[in-house]
Amino acid sequence: MSGAAANDTIAALASAAGQAGVAVVRVSGPAVPEIAKRLIGRLPVPRRAELARFTDADGATIDQGVVLYFAAPASFTGEHVLELQGHGSPVLVDELLARLVELGARLAGPGEFSQRAFLNDKLSLDQAEAIADAIAAGSRVSARAAIRSLEGAFAREVEALVEALTRLRVYTEAAIDFPDEDDVDFLADGEIEGRLAAITRDLQALRARAAQGAGFRDGLRLVILGRPNVGKSSLLNRLARRETAIVTEIAGTTRDVLHEQLSIDGLPLTLVDTAGLRETDDPVEAEGVRRARAEVAAADRVLLVIDDQAGLTDADRALLDEIPPDMGVTIVANKIDLSGHAPGPETLGGRTAVRVAAIDGRGFEELTAHLKSLVGVEGDAEPAFVARRRHLAALDRAAEALATGHERLVVDAAGELLAEELRLAQNALAEITGRVSSDDLLGEIFSSFCIGK
Ligand code: GDP
Ligand code: ZN
Repeated sequence: MSGAAANDTIAALASAAGQAGVAVVRVSGPAVPEIAKRLIGRLPVPRRAELARFTDADGATIDQGVVLYFAAPASFTGEHVLELQGHGSPVLVDELLARLVELGARLAGPGEFSQRAFLNDKLSLDQAEAIADAIAAGSRVSARAAIRSLEGAFAREVEALVEALTRLRVYTEAAIDFPDEDDVDFLADGEIEGRLAAITRDLQALRARAAQGAGFRDGLRLVILGRPNVGKSSLLNRLARRETAIVTEIAGTTRDVLHEQLSIDGLPLTLVDTAGLRETDDPVEAEGVRRARAEVAAADRVLLVIDDQAGLTDADRALLDEIPPDMGVTIVANKIDLSGHAPGPETLGGRTAVRVAAIDGRGFEELTAHLKSLVGVEGDAEPAFVARRRHLAALDRAAEALATGHERLVVDAAGELLAEELRLAQNALAEITGRVSSDDLLGEIFSSFCIGK
């Protein structure tokens, strides 16, 4: 994507709002050199920290601090950038921003600096998204994954796939244009099918890793259901008390639905305990049941807690029947200290089950491993990069196009239609990075071709 240069200059507080030791105000755009001259009396040497007075229209000092100037295009946004590090006082920051506006800047909207970085080819779209994800990350593991995305870990793999697709497209198109050369049918010689299969495999592997990245970004929302006294609250407390768990009470939880946020080995979990909903003769029970249903509908998965000593009772089965059929369920068979069963994974009534004792923590290693496996993570692996649902959807569309393309090739022997599906797959992938580089690359590849000369 070529830089559609912005013609205005934006300014914003880049550090956290409020009182602090230092406040960083960032200015980006073509007017930066002029603004610097009028604000601090000179244009600083690029990339060198300098002490300066930030002055108002009368030359009086608003604040003094460190300035850093980055000349375009060697800056975060690709534009001229000025960073003003003043005192962390909201009053001084307001005054400084007002002065910058007076000098021709306007206040930046959310994400505008990153947006300019993207438009100026400094970042791919997924890298720009990773900045927001790194800032918002709820765990160390998700923050590190976001930083890896920012460093281009995801974008590079997507771009490698786009390139492989482009080359296959070129090859396919050449095969269409020059069929039966030397009595060889390019479409049927297995080369195209083999390359298509390799790209499909790589795409599937990338999809699996992206799903982990998305899992660690978004976490899992789990609703705990079960009959009274099976140990729902104990399970929640045990999960929350694990050494690796960080527990945050969410203010404003309703009286009868408890939300608990924690992270297990870096995987953010929201546990929704509907405890009490069915244990009460309270007249509000009907409302409680309605809320429980709504919670189940919004969940990624249900943990149905049962008493392992009693096994899967009719009442448990009745609860299972109330869960929508498309919702994943894990049965947590609790109180194995009483039943005498061994801890760990099982199936019960055809469902995935894990046997535990909330009272002493037996089986919780297996339970947390199971929860991590729900987002595709085995063992202590960390996600290779962060990903969003939009990325997964794009990868799925690309995979679909490849599958259709394969069918066009082997069933219909229709090279043109295969090439069209390859183009669709490329476009889907290009949406992830926001770089529609495929046509440039096509030109590059074609120019090195001597076919048809
Ligand atoms: P809830 O009503 O489903 O939330 O169940 P609670 O967590 O309140 O537990 C009900 C009772 O079962 C309490 O007395 C707990 O101490 C007990 N309990 C919970 N987990 C276990 C367990 O693993 N083993 C044993 N022996 N008792 C447990
Ligand atoms: Zn309870």
